[in-house]
Amino acid sequence: MYVGRLAPSPTGHVHLGIARSSLVAWLDARAAGGRLLLRIEDIDGPRTVEGAADEMMRDFAWLGLDWDGPPTFQSERTALYEAALARLAASNRTYPCTCSRKEILAASAPHGPDGPRYPGTCREGFVPRSGRTPAVRFRTRPDDVVRHDDRRYGPLVQNVFDEVGDFVLRRADGLWAYQLAVTVDDLEQGVTDIVRGADLLDSTPRQLLLRSVLDSSAAPLRTMHVPLVLDASGQRLAKRHRAQPIRALERTPEAIVGWLAWSLGLVDEPEPLATHALLARYDPERIRTTPTHLDA
Ligand code: GLU
Ligand code: ZN
Repeated sequence: MYVGRLAPSPTGHVHLGIARSSLVAWLDARAAGGRLLLRIEDIDGPRTVEGAADEMMRDFAWLGLDWDGPPTFQSERTALYEAALARLAASNRTYPCTCSRKEILAASAPHGPDGPRYPGTCREGFVPRSGRTPAVRFRTRPDDVVRHDDRRYGPLVQNVFDEVGDFVLRRADGLWAYQLAVTVDDLEQGVTDIVRGADLLDSTPRQLLLRSVLDSSAAPLRTMHVPLVLDASGQRLAKRHRAQPIRALERTPEAIVGWLAWSLGLVDEPEPLATHALLARYDPERIRTTPTHLDA
């Protein structure tokens, strides 16, 4: 049974980038006759925007994307993250760390996908520093090599120890790290298929590693990453960068869906299309892996 998910972070509006990866997640789940869950990823309290979750749900529905069952909210699931962290701690896979970002940078570590690789300062015994609450890191091992085959981007091999290092599971400010929350939820909700933006391709090995440590008998996870929409300056459309909300484009949902489908390579012309009409023609093999540049 296929179980997919829409997992928006309610930190802004639905822009073309979010709309595009959500459209593919919807098409893929519906084409498989699967279930599609909606999970609001609102664990980053300070970045969560009041009312954004409701607005995103309205925008998805407006585009013609539906989901199964009531939405879940990560902010209501922190007991699950606590329990997972305790399990990782029990298998000696965590340690506290008080290093500041500045100290990590000063150690001139080689760069990983999300910035400098943590040099391991607190690995063999954490260095108490007055007034600092420790973060909790995942203890990677030299043999933590993840091999995976993404449905669009193909084979992926990452030695998480070498290429990422000991990554954060809970931040010093108490916030749960995205990597932990998303892995716990995907496991606990029985998700079989992840369809999301290619900016998260680099996170996939960390999540698969955590998944196998948390549950050695977990079913393999299929993933399909969707190329990004870039703005005129070549940057990823990000809510933070005030990308245009789809509603502000003043187009019909069909016009937007048709453009998204065309930009993905799913159809030959950017003609208006309803999601259900597109579903009848959906062929994931046609999705290209090159990003789309928006011109003014
Ligand atoms: N909440 C994440 C985002 O909006 C997506 C998480 C995921 O699909 O794994 O960027
Ligand atoms: Zn440290």
